[in-house]
Amino acid sequence: MTDKITLTTSAGAPIGDNQNSLSAGPRGPLLLQDYQLIEKLAHQNRERIPERVVHAKGWGAFGTFTVTHDVSKYSCAKLFDTVGKKTDLLIRISTVAGELGAADAERDVRGFSLKFYTEEGNWDVVGNNTPVFFIRDPLKFPDFIRTQKRHPRTNMRSPTAMWDFWSLSPESLHQVTILFSDRGLPTAPQYVNGYGSHTYSFWNEAGERYWVKFHFKTQQGHRHHTNAEAATVVGRSRESYQEEWFSAIESGNLPKWTMYVQIMSEAEADRTSYNPFDVTKVWPHADYPLIPVGEIELNRNVDNYFAEVEQAAFSPSNIVRGISHSPDRMLQGRIFAYADAHRHRLGTHYEALPVNQPKSPVNHYHKDGLLRFFASNHPTDAYYEPNSFGGPTQDARYLEPPLKIVGDGARWNHRDDPGNDDYVQPRTLFELFDADQKARLFMNLAEAMQGVPEFIVERQMGHFAKVHPDYATGVRRAMAVLAAAHVVATAAE
Ligand code: NDP
Repeated sequence: MTDKITLTTSAGAPIGDNQNSLSAGPRGPLLLQDYQLIEKLAHQNRERIPERVVHAKGWGAFGTFTVTHDVSKYSCAKLFDTVGKKTDLLIRISTVAGELGAADAERDVRGFSLKFYTEEGNWDVVGNNTPVFFIRDPLKFPDFIRTQKRHPRTNMRSPTAMWDFWSLSPESLHQVTILFSDRGLPTAPQYVNGYGSHTYSFWNEAGERYWVKFHFKTQQGHRHHTNAEAATVVGRSRESYQEEWFSAIESGNLPKWTMYVQIMSEAEADRTSYNPFDVTKVWPHADYPLIPVGEIELNRNVDNYFAEVEQAAFSPSNIVRGISHSPDRMLQGRIFAYADAHRHRLGTHYEALPVNQPKSPVNHYHKDGLLRFFASNHPTDAYYEPNSFGGPTQDARYLEPPLKIVGDGARWNHRDDPGNDDYVQPRTLFELFDADQKARLFMNLAEAMQGVPEFIVERQMGHFAKVHPDYATGVRRAMAVLAAAHVVATAAE
């Protein structure tokens, strides 16, 4: 039998009665001096923090990354320096549009975030289960997300807003095609691939930079629901992902992913027909084959969901020596926006929370603000820089090679990029689908466009037709099937 643990106040004082409030007599009113009562009620009022505006609902776990192949000629990052080396990590997979209480089995892109606790700081990959994204300029991001959220008057999701925006933004076609294909509705987080999506860069000991894309292929295989199956699942449980995810890890059925990179030299990047920094494009595997790097294995459920998943703060701004950014516009926007979201949700010093805390030394001069509960590791007189009192100083070995940037500062039209074609890559994907996959794609799209004004549907049909005539024809036929079914159902009423 374990020793009895005495309940205390948050100030550590033992509590004598946690069953009865302090009252003036057995039938009398309560006394304001019952601080423990007030403290309990006040704490409950403060249990929620702002949910993430996007990626609100997620599923997390801890695991390990093991290097299986030598990529040190591309990157001097310590976590890759030895085959067999292991690095602890945290993963969070999420839906994008739904709120914290949304059902898990909904058609949506899945966020795929990793925090590698490396010996030289945290490296975060904040990607998705898709290799591309709907837009390529962060100036459009708040507008885009508004179309995925609730209408200000009806407080309902609006297919009209979604298709209005998408049909006015042809760069979204690639991601829209993936979202409405089978992979747009996975059965549980372990059955998705992860992609860094953006172009990042590697740099090696010689100071040479390579552009890089990250891929994490599921070893569990892909599993998806049809819309009809998902409706049944959601009717049974809104937590179907958490159930399968948590129980798999708890029972030792440990999810794994293989990590690959695609590498492009700086010289090659000048020659591609498409912009290699455009997040609406993939790099074809035939031109840039997948190079294996390592394996991720999840091995531990979190102990406290709020502390370790809700407060987990991933940001593409977290890079380490040997890994860096690229001119990808969306990536540049996210470098600011993600860290800023955490400052807002969690507090200024959110990286001092245990789940976000690096396992390597942290020495900075940021001073006060919310969550300043930690002490500095350096002499107290050294609270500015430069100083003469032994405070931390820069180390030129960590300076990354110069990023070659050319061009005049102007509002360049991202749709006029020479060589840009928003239809060719969706076409390649469309042609990969077999007849059954295409039929499901058409029906998923037709269902999603129900109730959308005709002129918007027609604008979108124009884009589908430019991808492939069969694409537009297929969606039109599926819409006709749904319209006929509606007529029959109405007549039967
Ligand atoms: P490949 O034939 O070499 O690769 C096809 C890719 O498509 C594979 O990675 C496959 O993933 C993936 N795929 C299969 N079904 C779906 C689906 N329903 N939704 C999303 N991806 C799917 O061709 P390319 O490299 O030339 O790419 C062709 C198209 O494949 C691209 O336009 C893009 O839409 C898609 N794709 C490409 C990726 C890339 O980085 N090149 C990555 C992912 C998708 P898996 O191997 O897991 O089966």
